[in-house]
Amino acid sequence: MKLLIVDDMEGATGVIDWSQVMDDQPDYQRFRKVLTGDVNAAIRGACKGGADEIVVSDGHNYARNLLIEELDPRANLNYGSPSSLSMVEGVDKNVDAIMFIAYHARAGTLKAVLCHTWSLNTTNVWINGRITGEFGLNSSVAGSFGVPPLLLTGDRAVCQEALEWVPDLETVCVKTASGRYAAECLPPEKTQVMIEEAACKAVQRFLKGQAPKPIVVDTPVVIRVEFTTPNQADSACILPNTTRVDGRTLDITAPDMVTAYNSFRAVASLGR
Ligand SMILES: [Zn+2]
Repeated sequence: MKLLIVDDMEGATGVIDWSQVMDDQPDYQRFRKVLTGDVNAAIRGACKGGADEIVVSDGHNYARNLLIEELDPRANLNYGSPSSLSMVEGVDKNVDAIMFIAYHARAGTLKAVLCHTWSLNTTNVWINGRITGEFGLNSSVAGSFGVPPLLLTGDRAVCQEALEWVPDLETVCVKTASGRYAAECLPPEKTQVMIEEAACKAVQRFLKGQAPKPIVVDTPVVIRVEFTTPNQADSACILPNTTRVDGRTLDITAPDMVTAYNSFRAVASLGR
């Protein structure tokens, strides 16, 4: 069984502020170590559960957050950006299942650490009319390759958001937010045990044929993007196959989810 483990950083154990996840801030160096601990716990659990090939794709910001010198050597690492599939780089390479580590809730969520959707300039994103965060977006790309999601870790809000997409997903709640920049956090010594156990169970379920189903969205795919200000949509709507909806909003129409995803990446970059 080949497993892809993808990570973000805002949902890592103990993270409650941007200063811990921005590479020019002093606390970043501490929290990349903690993030690596969360990912290693998932690798340990997945191996124990029976995964025999693991690739990790670093996904936060410029995708160079994990400490490769501390990464469990049973996994390879997709590192750096831009890559062809960004946060789910490698999902097109004969992967059987995917896990999401250190994810965060979508923009505008109540009591959700560092909630946002992709960019800080996108206030809302919808796939075929359904509001989505990064879990929905990335797991829909995985689903277009027939790859089911097995596990998500992050705060209580993102666990709930992911369960709305995939009710039988394994989730590990590493913190419970009281605001966007505050949470009751479990220490790494606890969360790593929880992540390892959940990853093991998730792989065992997969091998017994009890994994969740892949998320498959209808085609053609329409991704609607709402920006903070109209000038961002002005810049983004020069991309072909976009339609302006209103001052701050545009629709991307694409024949399949991968094209929609990459068009969305382009729109989000243009709309900065
Ligand atoms: Zn991130």
